[in-house]
Amino acid sequence: PPLLALEGVEKRYASGTLALSDFSLAVGAREFVSLLGPSGCGKSTVLRMAAGLDAPGAGTLRRPGDAGTGFVFQEPTLMPWARVAANVALPLELAGLPRAECAARVHAALRTVGLEGFARAWPRELSGGMKMRASIARALVTRPRLLLMDEPFAALDEITRFRLNDQLLALWQAQGFTALFVTHSVFEAVYLSQRVVVMAARPGRVVADIAIDEPYPRT
Ligand code: ADP
Ligand code: ADP
Repeated sequence: PPLLALEGVEKRYASGTLALSDFSLAVGAREFVSLLGPSGCGKSTVLRMAAGLDAPGAGTLRRPGDAGTGFVFQEPTLMPWARVAANVALPLELAGLPRAECAARVHAALRTVGLEGFARAWPRELSGGMKMRASIARALVTRPRLLLMDEPFAALDEITRFRLNDQLLALWQAQGFTALFVTHSVFEAVYLSQRVVVMAARPGRVVADIAIDEPYPRT
C-alpha cells in the first residue's frame, strides 16, 4: 500500500474557500514526488494534511504517524535563541530520547548536511543555504519515512539552490525516505523527482501526473 494516500479529498476553509475538491494522490515508499501548480491551487493544504496539521472535510487520508513525518518549510524556522545543535535536537527531545542518544543523532544529522563544524553556532551566524541545511537536518533527525517540503529553496540564490538540490538527492538516495516536494520551478521538479504532479486551481485538483522515466543524469 502507498505510504501516503489522499482519496477523494475535499477541503473547505472556514472562510468558505473550497481549496480542494475530489483530490486524489498516492505516494509509494521511497518515491520522490514534486507538486507543481499556480499560487492558491492547494499545494500547501495537501502538505498540511500529509503532515497531520489539517484534516480533510471529506474523503480519506492515509499517512505515517507524526513520528514518521518530517516537515521543511520555505522559511528556515530555526529558534534564534538556541544553538544549531539544540535546534536540530528539538524533535528528539520532544520524543523523549535519552540525552546521549540525542547528541549522537544530532551529530550524525549535522554531518549528513555538511554542518558538522557548526553545532555550537547560532542560527544568525549561518548563511541562507546553511540555515536551510540545518532545517533539513532537524526534519531528518528522527529518521522519518516521509519528508514533506514546502518550497524549501525558493528564497535562495540559484547557485545555492542547485547545490542544495544535489545534496537533497544524495540524502534521498542514501536514506531512502519518501519525499513530497512543493515547488514553483519546473526545472527543480523535473531534476529532483520521479513523478511530477501538476495541480490546477478553483478548486484544487490534479490535472497531470507525469512519470520521469529517465531521471536526469546524476553525478
Ligand atoms: P498553494 O500552497 O498552492 O498556494 P494553499 O493550499 O495555500 O495553496 O491555498 C489554497 C486555497 O485555500 C487558496 O485559495 C487560499 O487562499 C485558501 N486558504 C489557504 N489557507 C487558508 C486558511 N487558513 N483560511 C482560509 N483560506 C485559506
Ligand atoms: P550552501 O551551498 O549550503 O549555501 P554556502 O555557500 O552558504 O553553502 O557556504 C559554503 C561554505 O562556506 C559553508 O559550507 C561554510 O563552510 C562556509 N560558510 C558560509 N557562511 C559562513 C559563515 N557565516 N561562517 C562561517 N563559514 C561560512
